[in-house]
Amino acid sequence: MDTTPGAGRSAADFPTLVVVRHPLVQHKLALLRDRSTPTKIFSELVEELATLLAYEATSDLALEPVAVDTPLEQTTGYRVRGKKLVLVPILRAGLGMVTGVLRLVPSARVGHIGLYRDHDTLEPVDYYFRVPGDAAERDFIVLDPMLATGGSAVSAVSSLKRAGATRIRYLCIVAAPAGVTRLAAAHPDVRVYSAALDRELNAHGYIMPGLGDAGDRLFGTR
Ligand code: URA
Repeated sequence: MDTTPGAGRSAADFPTLVVVRHPLVQHKLALLRDRSTPTKIFSELVEELATLLAYEATSDLALEPVAVDTPLEQTTGYRVRGKKLVLVPILRAGLGMVTGVLRLVPSARVGHIGLYRDHDTLEPVDYYFRVPGDAAERDFIVLDPMLATGGSAVSAVSSLKRAGATRIRYLCIVAAPAGVTRLAAAHPDVRVYSAALDRELNAHGYIMPGLGDAGDRLFGTR
């Protein structure tokens, strides 16, 4: 069976998706997928991958010039323009990515989105939503290691937009074609950064080959 990430599909099928192919990202992802990787290492790898993915996802942040006095003379430096970035982990697995991104952007604010799946409609329902009030003026990065069906992703981004957010990026570690397609259809302005585009979802909504239940593996609850 061909388990090549995104087998049979081309990048043109996923115009909103950026797969980060850096060697360190791919190396850490292979360790993360391994069923024998223990909880502590799994959690450290999720943090490290979040840092590396965030580096890529922040590569187009707007800059503004700033005067800097070096020990020798004045020069022009550049700083990230505007209000502090907001990280928004989707509970609960997204929490595992927060520290890794904060290592890179220590001044970022952290919002939270809690979602559960309604048993009857199978649609995600918000049970917790908290982000800074001035959402229209900030850049947001939604965090969730697994972009599977895309239901939670669409709901989370819709909630952020209702709160006024206009600049939203989505950071995951493994994406399924169905999830990327669904998020792009609902929110074509949201770029997705992922370490992998996997083959498909199985009948239970798990990403194949994937890495299993990210929340359970992060928090040792399996
Ligand atoms: N959520 C997970 O944790 N893993 C999957 O494979 C799909 C959704």
